[in-house]
Amino acid sequence: MDKINVEQMLAIEEPFMKVPLEQLKRAVRQSQKQAERDTKDVSSTVSSLIKRSGSAEAGDINGALDGMIDRLKTLKRKLEVVKQEEALLIQRSKQRAMQLNELSTFTSSTQPEFERWCRTRLDRVLIDYMLRSGHTSTAQQLIDSNGLEHFADSSLFTLVMRIERDLKEQHLCRSTLQWCADNRSALRKIDSSLEFELRLQEYIELIRARNTAEAIVYAKKHLVAWSETQMPRIQRAMTLLAFPPDTPCPPYRAMFDIGRWDTLAQEFRMVIFQLHHLPSQPLLHLLLQTGLSALKTPACISDDDAEHNRNCPVCQRDTLGKLAQDLPLSHHVNSNLVCRITGENMNEDNPPMRLPNGYVYSFNSLNEMAANNSGKVKCPRTSETFGLAECKKLFIS
Ligand SMILES: [Zn+2]
Repeated sequence: MDKINVEQMLAIEEPFMKVPLEQLKRAVRQSQKQAERDTKDVSSTVSSLIKRSGSAEAGDINGALDGMIDRLKTLKRKLEVVKQEEALLIQRSKQRAMQLNELSTFTSSTQPEFERWCRTRLDRVLIDYMLRSGHTSTAQQLIDSNGLEHFADSSLFTLVMRIERDLKEQHLCRSTLQWCADNRSALRKIDSSLEFELRLQEYIELIRARNTAEAIVYAKKHLVAWSETQMPRIQRAMTLLAFPPDTPCPPYRAMFDIGRWDTLAQEFRMVIFQLHHLPSQPLLHLLLQTGLSALKTPACISDDDAEHNRNCPVCQRDTLGKLAQDLPLSHHVNSNLVCRITGENMNEDNPPMRLPNGYVYSFNSLNEMAANNSGKVKCPRTSETFGLAECKKLFIS
């Protein structure tokens, strides 16, 4: 019973390992590209200097050499920064692998070490939830107080929040477009049209500002490049030129809709999570849903409030019940009798008691009610009052 199912526990930890590895992969690739670009430029300057060595002035040659030295120095500085970032990500991956490896050393779920491990996991899950929801400083406090720096993806979520703010509040695409440029090949691999949507938005904003000439130039430069996959939408975008921003015509009204900015932010979040192998839902929701699915019964989804159990989290429609909305009903071999008053199970320690009017409540609830009400109990359904002695223990066979 107290055996730990390591495999099942590891099944939900994939993002925990993959996020820093993905970031590391990206950092290495970007520094490699930067180095290739700069060294290529330097070698072409050297080749042209050699070619003109006979004719060039000494001053020109010195100037070109100084330029090359400056460029290589800048490259060195950039690579040093990337090297530090790479070392941090390697360290982070190592710490996470060690954390997960610890699971294999536990022999029982009652071990205090295992409980400590679970406590850390709960902290990680809460940090993930808070970072996703924008509660960054609270998350940081939890990270700092428990030394969980290596277990939190703060930098990734800070980037997500910054870009989302630019889109939703500032209505600016610049930072998202820069991110797209830095991740172009990865975006191509997943067939993402995010960059097209951003370009389209910038184009729409030019039309909204009645800047028609500039909008046409912009479309030629940035939308036509997508003609292979987005032709019908480009055609519609071009037709938009003929409509004012307050048009009632449905497809064009939708293009002018300010809500598109929120949609762009959502799409960006979806894409960046996909590239980092992060699930769209917080891990906290997934874990809670696992527990809730075991509790969900037909009574939980009944329209009759009287059937709901006040101690059942699935019955709390405004909170945990929302998370359980799409979950299937759990399979119960045995029925549980639950007291309507206390929400406690009725069993041999807390037997069901039948009131003279036929309604049944738990012994504990009636006993407590009688103790506070001079030996009388009141039926919550009919408001009838009876003496406790009139209630009979119920036997179900
Ligand atoms: Zn319920």
